[in-house]
Amino acid sequence: MTNKIIENLKFGKINKSEIVQLLKARGSLQKELFEQAKQTRQEFFGNKVFVRGVIEISNYCRKNCDYCAIRYSNKKLERYRLTPEEIFSVAKQINALGIQTLFIQSGEDPNTDKIVEEVLPKIKQELKINNIILCLGNRSKEQYKKFKELGANAYILKFETSDSILFQKIRHEPLEQRLQCLKWLKELGFEVGTGNITGLPEQTIESIAEDVLLAKKLNTEFVSTAPFVPNENTPLKKEPHGDFDLTLNTLAIWRIMLKNVLIPTVSALEKIKKGGQILGFNAGANVITVNFTPSQYRKKYLIYSKKRFVVTLNHALKTIKSAGLSPDIE
Ligand code: SF4
Repeated sequence: MTNKIIENLKFGKINKSEIVQLLKARGSLQKELFEQAKQTRQEFFGNKVFVRGVIEISNYCRKNCDYCAIRYSNKKLERYRLTPEEIFSVAKQINALGIQTLFIQSGEDPNTDKIVEEVLPKIKQELKINNIILCLGNRSKEQYKKFKELGANAYILKFETSDSILFQKIRHEPLEQRLQCLKWLKELGFEVGTGNITGLPEQTIESIAEDVLLAKKLNTEFVSTAPFVPNENTPLKKEPHGDFDLTLNTLAIWRIMLKNVLIPTVSALEKIKKGGQILGFNAGANVITVNFTPSQYRKKYLIYSKKRFVVTLNHALKTIKSAGLSPDIE
């Protein structure tokens, strides 16, 4: 018989204290949570895993998030920005491998806007790529609209934490601005992705339960959770990394609660534990992102650590196979 709380989660009747209990689940309750998450994924997506090819186009950033080495006050980081030609050449490579989703990511660098505007129509016209996802941070509604008109169909903007005090403290900006951007993206008809970081210093388990509920309220098409990883040259460099099980439980809860959303098994899981991305699939994930950033730039994109785990196509395909799933590569 299914556990009562998991039943409540499945039928959308769960409350915050029950979410907290599931976030803490270990042993048989956790096993049951993951089983239900896998069943839900199976019901909505079968064995299919969506493979994304990411290009990290710039490591300049106007923000100063305490957990990220791309923050503007990290003077030790050598900065780079790709040209439209470089981006197109990588997109072509991704396309040639049969990957249908191109993911363009960057620090919050408005100087990339013109570059992205130039390359989007070329990618749309010359390559057979079904989805173009952007992850470039906060912008004006007009700028988002321009990206949409030029061919981007999805945008990822994680809220990171639903706790507005913690958000302000570690990102040095108000959470409301982020939520406003998410609202604009929805209004403009983008497929939207959001999500959180688990295990941030001072983050409570109740606050993670609020993250779970915020994602439900935002009603986005993709959601993602990643463990906090301490990063060199940041104020949080000495903090411990987030709890692996807590991240997996968040993922599984979202799968059962939100059902037909896309949820990645992120590289930070692999960084914390070898085989971690297989465990992400076993907790209900159905997306993996392969890194195609040219190698001379890749080591400078320190989104969570200098020694971050870089996902190759070979690793992604092996991971998908080990989880008994199939890639959507054509
Ligand atoms: Fe910039 Fe994003 Fe890093 Fe914050 S998390 S410093 S916005 S790249």
